Amino acid sequence: MIRSANLGFPRIGARRELKRAVEAYWKGATDAAALEGTGRELRARHWQAQQAAGIDAIPSNDFSFYDQMLDMTALLGAVPERFGHRGGAVGLDTLFAMARGRDDAPAMEMTKWFDTNYHFIVPELTDGMRFALSSSKPVDEFIEAKKLGIVTRPVLIGPVTWLSLAKTKGAEFDPLDLLHGVLPIYEQILDGLAAAGAEWVQIDEPVLVTDLTARQQGAFATAYDALAKAGPKIMLASYFGALGDNAALALRLPVAGVHLDLARAPGQLADVLPLAAGKVLSLGLIDGRNVWRADLSAKLALAKPALAALGPDRIEVAPSCSLLHVPVDLGQEDEIDDELASWLAFAVQKLGEVRTLARALGEGRSAVARQMAASDKALAARRASARIHDVAVSARLDTVTPADLERRGTYAERRAVQDEKLRLPAFPTTTIGSFPQTAEVRKARAAHRKGELDDAAYEAFLKDETRACVAEQERLGLDMLVHGEFERNDMVEYFGELLAGFAFTRHGWVQSYGSRCVKPPLIYGDVSRPAPMTVDWSAFAQSLTTRPMKGMLTGPVTILQWSFVRDDQPRERTCRQIALAIRDEVCDLEAAGLPAIQIDEPALREGLPLRCADWAGYLAWAIDAFRLTASGVRNDTQIHTHMCYSEFNDIIEHIARMDADVISIEASRSDMELLQVFGDFDYPNEIGPGIWDIHSPRIPSEAEMTALLAKATKAIPAERLWVNPDCGLKTRAWPEVRASLANLVAAAKGVRQGA
Ligand code: GLN
Ligand code: ZN
Repeated sequence: MIRSANLGFPRIGARRELKRAVEAYWKGATDAAALEGTGRELRARHWQAQQAAGIDAIPSNDFSFYDQMLDMTALLGAVPERFGHRGGAVGLDTLFAMARGRDDAPAMEMTKWFDTNYHFIVPELTDGMRFALSSSKPVDEFIEAKKLGIVTRPVLIGPVTWLSLAKTKGAEFDPLDLLHGVLPIYEQILDGLAAAGAEWVQIDEPVLVTDLTARQQGAFATAYDALAKAGPKIMLASYFGALGDNAALALRLPVAGVHLDLARAPGQLADVLPLAAGKVLSLGLIDGRNVWRADLSAKLALAKPALAALGPDRIEVAPSCSLLHVPVDLGQEDEIDDELASWLAFAVQKLGEVRTLARALGEGRSAVARQMAASDKALAARRASARIHDVAVSARLDTVTPADLERRGTYAERRAVQDEKLRLPAFPTTTIGSFPQTAEVRKARAAHRKGELDDAAYEAFLKDETRACVAEQERLGLDMLVHGEFERNDMVEYFGELLAGFAFTRHGWVQSYGSRCVKPPLIYGDVSRPAPMTVDWSAFAQSLTTRPMKGMLTGPVTILQWSFVRDDQPRERTCRQIALAIRDEVCDLEAAGLPAIQIDEPALREGLPLRCADWAGYLAWAIDAFRLTASGVRNDTQIHTHMCYSEFNDIIEHIARMDADVISIEASRSDMELLQVFGDFDYPNEIGPGIWDIHSPRIPSEAEMTALLAKATKAIPAERLWVNPDCGLKTRAWPEVRASLANLVAAAKGVRQGA
C-alpha cells in the first residue's frame, strides 16, 4: 500500500456556493449562522468526496471564508491596529474588514500568490508586534472532520513563508525579526492539533522554491527545530517549482516528510532522492495548476525510482500543489464535447488520478489496468487529434524571422510621421479603453446570450452605446478616443471566443480573491484567427469622429497568462501563435484606417518565473511575442501598450525593448513614484502615467491631477508625456467618469498653457 494525499481542495464549491453565501452575508441578507452553515456543508462535502476518491491524507483548514493567508494572520492575532481588535478570537466581521476595508479602516493589501492568479491578503507587520493565538479554526475543523469519521491532515501556512510575504509598516525592519514572536503561537497550534488527535500536519512553505537569503535559510533552521518538537509529524510542502539549491536545506530540517512539486519540476526527484534518507517524500505528480488529464504511465515511470530508493512506507502520491487553482468537477460540464472532455481532469478527477497512481505504484499496474489503459488511450488520442494540429499555423511559425519583430523605422522616425499625421497637442489626453459596463450593457449581453435579444437588436444596442461614448469623449475634449469596449465581456474571453484553439467551460471557476472567481479559457490546440475580431467595431467608432480613434486589443502574453494553457508544447510556442493571430488583427485595423492601436499587456509581469535565473529566458520570448504582434504596421501607425498593477524597476530595459510608441501605466497610487525608473533609465518613447486611480469611486480634482502631472514632468520630458487614467473605466459609473475626465482634460489643458 502506498498512501495517497491531497494538499488542498477548492473551497468555492462546484456551483460557487461559497461565493453566494459570503456575498449574501456581506449584503446583510443572511446572518453569520447561515454563512457558517454553508461553510460546514461545503467542508463536509469536500472531505467526503476526497474520502470517496480513496485519498488517505485528506487536508483540513484548507477551507477559508476569504483566504488562507488571511486566516493564518488572524490565527496569529496579527490584526493591524486600525481594525480595533482587542484580543481574543478574531471574528468573521473583523476578518472581512481586514480583507475588504471598513469605513474607518482601509483594507489590507492584496497581491498575487506566487505565480498564480490567486490573490492573498498581505500580512502587515509593525516593529515589535505581539502575537497571540486568536482563533481555534484549525482545531475546530479537525474535530469537525473527525466527527464525520475522517482523520485529516490539517494545513498551515509555514512561518517563514508567512513572514517572507509580509510587508512592514512604520519603522523599517526585517519581518523575519518577528520569527521568535510567531513560533510560540505555531507551537500552541501544533500542540492543540496533537491533543485533538492529529498525527500529521502539512505546513506549506512555498518560498522554498524561490531564491532564499541567508536570513531566510537561517529562519528555516530555527523555525523547524522548534516546530518539530511540538506535537504532530510535519509534512513540509514545497510547490510551484523545484527546491533547487534549497534542497539540502529542506531535507536537513527535522521534519518527518517533504512534499515535492514533480509536475513543474519532475527533474528534481533525482536531486532529492540521495538526500531523503529517513524522510517521507510526498510525490506531487498530478498537476495542480492545470486542467489536463495526466499521462499516468509517464508519471508512474517518474515515481518508480522513489519507490526503489525509499520503499513503500516512505512515499506518498499527491497533486503537485493544492487543487485550489483548478475547477472543481469536470462531471458537471455538459457542453464540452466528449473528445475534449476526455483530455481534461479537474479537482475531483485529479484525486482519482492520484489514487490510481498510488495503487499502480503499490500494487502494480495490473491492479488498475483499466484506469491506466484509459489514460494511455486518452493521451494517445489527444496527441494524434487533428483538432490540436493546424499545419498552416506551424508552417507559418517556422517562417517568422527576426525582421518580423522589428518596426520598420526607429522610434524617432516613427514619432516624426506620427506627429505629422495625428497633430495632437502637447500632453495629449486619452483613456485606457473600456467605458462603464453599466447594468444595461450587462443585461443586454445576458439577454443576447440567452437568445432573448437577437443579433441585430444586440448589435444596434452596442452601436448606440458606442455612438454615445464617442460623443461623450468629444464633448469632454479628449484627444485620442476609444470605442468603449461595450461588446466585450472580458478582455481575454472575448478574444478566446473568436480565436481557433480555445474552448470554454460552463462551471470551470477558480477563486481569484475572496468571493471573486474567474473562468479561464482553455487553450487546447494551435491558435489562429479565422476572421477579423475587432475591426468592425473600431472602424465604426472611427467613422463617427474626425479625432483619432485607438484600436483596442489584448496582447499575447496576457491571453496566455489568464488561460489554462496546453501542456504538450512549450508556453513560448503557444504565445507566439497567439502573437501571430493578434498581429494580423493589428494589420487589419491599420488597413481599416485606425491611426493608433493599443495592445494591452497587464499580465506581462505576473508571468515572471519565481527564480531570478529564469527571468531572462521568459522575458526574451514574452517581449518578442509583443514585438511580433506590433511590428507589422507602417511607421505612421502609433502602437500603444498598457500595463497596470506593475512595478518596472527591475524590468525597465525589457519594457523599453517592447518599443511601443506609447505606454500607459498605473501610477497615481504610487504618487508618480513608478515613473522615476522610466526617467532614470532615459526611457526613449512616450509614456502616459495614470493620474486617476480608477479603483476607487473618488473623483480626483483638477488641482490634484495637475500636481501629479507636474511631478511627472520632473521625471519625464514634457514632450513625451500623455495624460490618462490608471486603467480602463469599466467598473466605474458614468457620473464619476464624466466628472473625473472633465478634471483630467482641464488639468492637461492647464499644463499645456504653463509649458
Ligand atoms: N483596455 C482594457 C480596459 O480598458 C485594459 C484593461 C486592463 O488593463 N486590465 O478595460
Ligand atoms: Zn489596466
